[in-house]
Amino acid sequence: PPLYIQRYEFVIDFVKKNKPKKVVDLGCNDCTLLRKLKFHKEIELLAGLDIDCAVIRAKMYELAPIPTDYLQPGDHPLTIELYQGSVTERDPRTKGFDLVTSIELIEHLQLEDVDRFTEVVFGYMAPVAAIISTPNADFNPLLPGLTGFRHYDHKFEWTKVEFQTWALKVCREFGYVVAFTGVGQIPAQEESIGFCSQIGVFQIDRSGGDAPRLQNNVLYNVVYPSLCDSNIF
Ligand code: SAM
Repeated sequence: PPLYIQRYEFVIDFVKKNKPKKVVDLGCNDCTLLRKLKFHKEIELLAGLDIDCAVIRAKMYELAPIPTDYLQPGDHPLTIELYQGSVTERDPRTKGFDLVTSIELIEHLQLEDVDRFTEVVFGYMAPVAAIISTPNADFNPLLPGLTGFRHYDHKFEWTKVEFQTWALKVCREFGYVVAFTGVGQIPAQEESIGFCSQIGVFQIDRSGGDAPRLQNNVLYNVVYPSLCDSNIF
């Protein structure tokens, strides 16, 4: 499947395994991921936030209940909420979520706004888990005909080391652990290049005060399934 579908499938897979009750998709665009997530019956609150009101409105009515939602209702009612807003601003509606997703969003922010995003998501929203995806610049030489960034609106594209440096700083400052993975197959000879889209799966660190919060050399480059097999919610 195309890369954007693989990214959505990654989130859906995480949701199936971890069964979060409250999920918010930051930079939800035309609600495509939300339309897929609404079929996961454990979710009780599904929210989307985007800075662009028009893009949210474009297909938001497709989130309305369909006949099978009435014929085969889940155990809990599902509430879907869509918010216009910026990930750089503290918004009380986005607090208290089990899972925050941010798929191909951060590279659209100026670097000083990435700092705001980091504080808003991990310091203020403080979800149990967060899935953050962004292009892997190390992969760009493998993309035919690409000169410059992958999209005209990208403000930066991080190498694996740059992304992981940011992510590990997030962990140290806000008390999370992270596993690095991605989607977009690694070419056979070029494993060190990593995935086309790199993904960090953050989970709040519940190891308490005794254990060190994050040991870079232990959690660095742990691949996603090993951390996500258990139901954490
Ligand atoms: N997450 C979707 C996906 O994976 O298909 C859309 C990704 S699209 C490349 C980036 C989205 O982020 C756009 O819908 C854009 O409007 C939104 N966005 C950009 N800056 C934002 C901000 N400061 N706050 C919230 N959303 C923002």
